[in-house]
Amino acid sequence: MDSLAAVDWAAYEQQALSAISGDALEDARVKYLGRKSELAQALRGVRDKESGMLLNGVKARLEAAVTAREHQLELAARRAAADSGVDVTIPGTPVTRGRLHLLTQIRREIEDIFLGMGYEVWDGPEVVTVWENFDALNTDQGHPSRSKLDTFYLDDDTLLRTQTSPDQIKAMLTRTPPIYMVSPGRVYRRDTPDATHSPTFQQVECLAVDRGITLADLRGTVQQYFRQLFGPDRDVRMRTSFFPFTEPSVEFDVTCFLCDGRGCAVCKHSGWIEMGGAGWVDPDVFRTVGLDPDDWQGFAFGFGIERIAMLRHGLPDLRAFWENDVRILGQF
Ligand SMILES: [Zn+2]
Repeated sequence: MDSLAAVDWAAYEQQALSAISGDALEDARVKYLGRKSELAQALRGVRDKESGMLLNGVKARLEAAVTAREHQLELAARRAAADSGVDVTIPGTPVTRGRLHLLTQIRREIEDIFLGMGYEVWDGPEVVTVWENFDALNTDQGHPSRSKLDTFYLDDDTLLRTQTSPDQIKAMLTRTPPIYMVSPGRVYRRDTPDATHSPTFQQVECLAVDRGITLADLRGTVQQYFRQLFGPDRDVRMRTSFFPFTEPSVEFDVTCFLCDGRGCAVCKHSGWIEMGGAGWVDPDVFRTVGLDPDDWQGFAFGFGIERIAMLRHGLPDLRAFWENDVRILGQF
């Protein structure tokens, strides 16, 4: 208790109040009330009630003085600002928050739908070999999509993928079935940009390989997908089609979500909207990747992400997605 006895607390308080009323308020607070101040050290050493009351009284009065002085200084600062012509009551500049691009939102939504059905999400490379993009997918040597007028070749053997289907091949080469995968991503084609064409756009590839699955599984999967994207009342239908890597091949339509199938401008008064191609994995494709087509069955489909965004949000022009006009993108 030597330190307690050695200090004249009345004098300490007077000195502190004087310092607090000056301009260096924070310095004064640290010196007289801080953790290393004589007051704080003395308080830690207190053993009797009388000393405790004395010191706590000093502490409470000094703290009240600091608070009062803080208010006083703040008021003075505001007055000074007002005198200098700064109006501190003007609202600040609002900070606008960024958001995910509409296509990213839809892509993630699609990933969630398939994750919910037990699928694995893949992220395949955009530069692939000619073999992966065409040969392994059963595409004829003379098929027009192989033309340099339609496809961006990097050299004789590699190209910017024209479809996400090479990921099917990669999946079957590197995994042992059963395989349930979706692969969303960018694809590239030599197209002149207009309202419905773009040299790059996004697709979602889906592949299921298992034993004992049927066309009914394909239909059920696609129906579930569209119902989650466009609403629970949607119906789907299949029309026969042709793709090199599926046999049989089908096109999927979904009932128009704008007119509920009664007919409108968006569905060209048919009540149905074309969504994309699908089919049964061709036995030749299975043989190419070393799977026995008598042992395994599978289906695959690929749908465009931009098309889903345009349909769902009534966007008439594909170019809106990459012109990055925040007045449009900010609406989603
Ligand atoms: Zn319609």
